[in-house]
Amino acid sequence: MDIIKVMDEPLANKIAAGEVVERPASIVKELIENSIDAGSTTIEITLEEAGLTSIRITDNGKGMTTTDAVRAFERHATSKIDNEHDLFRIRTLGFRGEALASIAAVSKVHLWTSDGVSGTEVDIEGGKVMNHRAASLRQGTDITVSQVFFNTPARLKYMKTIQTELGHTIDLVNRLAISHPDIAFRLAHGQQLLLKTSGSGNLQRVLSDVYGITVAKKMIPFQAENSDYKVSGYVTLPEMTRASKNYMTVLVNGRWVKSYAVNKAVLEALHTYLPIGRFPIIVLRAEADPYLTDVNVHPSKQYIKVSKEGELLAAVREGVHAAVKKAIIVPDAIVKEKKKTITPSVQESFWKHPERRAEPVQSFQTTSNYPPRQQPSWTVGEQSSREDSTIDPDGQAQTVEASETANADEEFVSFGSQEEVAKPLDHSEPKSSFPKLLPVGQVHGTYIVAQNEDGFYMIDQHAAQERIKYEYFRTKIAEVDHEERQMLLMPLIFHYSADEQLKIEERLDALEDVGIFLEQFGPSSYTVKEYPSWFPAAEASSIIEEMIEQVLHTRQVNIAKLREDTAIMMSCKKSIKANHHLTMEDMNRLLDDLGKSENPYTCPHGRPVLIHFTTYELEKMFKRVM
Ligand code: ADP
Ligand code: MG
Repeated sequence: MDIIKVMDEPLANKIAAGEVVERPASIVKELIENSIDAGSTTIEITLEEAGLTSIRITDNGKGMTTTDAVRAFERHATSKIDNEHDLFRIRTLGFRGEALASIAAVSKVHLWTSDGVSGTEVDIEGGKVMNHRAASLRQGTDITVSQVFFNTPARLKYMKTIQTELGHTIDLVNRLAISHPDIAFRLAHGQQLLLKTSGSGNLQRVLSDVYGITVAKKMIPFQAENSDYKVSGYVTLPEMTRASKNYMTVLVNGRWVKSYAVNKAVLEALHTYLPIGRFPIIVLRAEADPYLTDVNVHPSKQYIKVSKEGELLAAVREGVHAAVKKAIIVPDAIVKEKKKTITPSVQESFWKHPERRAEPVQSFQTTSNYPPRQQPSWTVGEQSSREDSTIDPDGQAQTVEASETANADEEFVSFGSQEEVAKPLDHSEPKSSFPKLLPVGQVHGTYIVAQNEDGFYMIDQHAAQERIKYEYFRTKIAEVDHEERQMLLMPLIFHYSADEQLKIEERLDALEDVGIFLEQFGPSSYTVKEYPSWFPAAEASSIIEEMIEQVLHTRQVNIAKLREDTAIMMSCKKSIKANHHLTMEDMNRLLDDLGKSENPYTCPHGRPVLIHFTTYELEKMFKRVM
């Protein structure tokens, strides 16, 4: 008996919907992409209950004819490609002709559209066009998707809380707004306005709408180009970071895509500038001939394939690295008054000059020994909560930011040009530009206070020493001198399992390159009888163990990276920790050594080493100037 049947269309659509329509955010994505493809300049999104009750998208794009309005909901119905050659030169966001059919299969849809010649209204239920009729003529499309997943109960059950679903949609709309600065977006949840962009075409302005002006002002432009790719965008200076990669946006030919490889290249470009486990806020736009990209590898088109990936990644690394290196500055500490304790006039000037706020220096928050409300006035406390809240478009702080953005354009003109903001220092000549600092004393056995004619400085002594040691070990390890070895009275012994030994055997050369000389010792052990004389003796055993671990657990040993990691590990172990008393002489020496280092401004983990209070800022704090 024959048992194979071809599915009817509603069933096939429902199955296809499984791939495309995962959650309300994926519906919003497809609908906005359609509006973008239709050439809209304004797109309004209104959600009820995070979109589960309804999603309404209104655009002013080219609209559809009556026939197209009905046909659009059939599977494989598209106006965007004609033949298979078109697949290699896709310039639109959509092309699969599946989204509307899939969405209609799992929800109720009301469409109103007009191409300026005719107006049409269509009702669709369970994927079937129930009726259509003539309607008013105002060019554009207005589509309402309601009762999402009403006929797919399992999917509905899988939905997380309203907050989670809403979070996904906000994130999505943020990214689409960032990818299209020339389109005015408006996202509302019920009565609550969540995002509004102007459509002015200014990316920095959109970044300000999305992340808040404080973040936007901290973002520096970058760009690089080779024969295949053009890369550009904005990235936050290393001192403004986030705990996740969620703030890294990659756009390829205007399409927001997820790319592990590009993210990795960005992180490589920021290596040693970023604290461990922290990520930048970045928007990276890559442009290439569409023929180099294959967007047809994933139903939601979020993953794409690119030819000549190496060229793309090289441009990413080059652009980001050069820009950040050039812009590294001494973090300036600037008055950050607590809202409740300051007089209105100070508050006002503070809001007028947001660029004069304290830099969001992480070490301030993490190393502070004070409970939040008892910080002495000269430490610039409490900036953390605000900085972070501006990022997530969920709370009141966002609303406050929104009011600031009114002046955003004007502010951007003076971006970084305030005379009181420390001048960007070029990395190529850091030694001469590092200020001469005279120590005044030490605070809490942790920070050195120093001064010169430009104001005063606080130096994190641990971070400073890490930087100095790191540069020392990095030079030493770059070329291990075999003459410079030291014999041990008591050899060190390390034990490994048989499979581990196999790997170690393969990697003995790499280990020797960083000064570790292993000799087989019995069936399951190695000994180390000597090591370079500059190895930190007290920690030698644990350092060697960690380095062996490292070569054991990487798929392919990268010598440059191994050297780098070893230098960081050694600098960290050997450095003076907090709560360590230093004499004036110690401090002088430390500051001298710091001045000689190649990059005295951040520790190898990317944390700031020093913070500068300018003379002007001091005068301002004490109201000697207004
Ligand atoms: P695709 O975008 O892959 O072509 P969709 O199912 O998303 O497939 O949409 C089908 C077609 O409906 C599109 O090709 C387009 O012609 C039309 N369409 C959908 N949304 C809009 C819109 N907002 N404005 C104008 N035309 C639209
Ligand atoms: Mg589409």
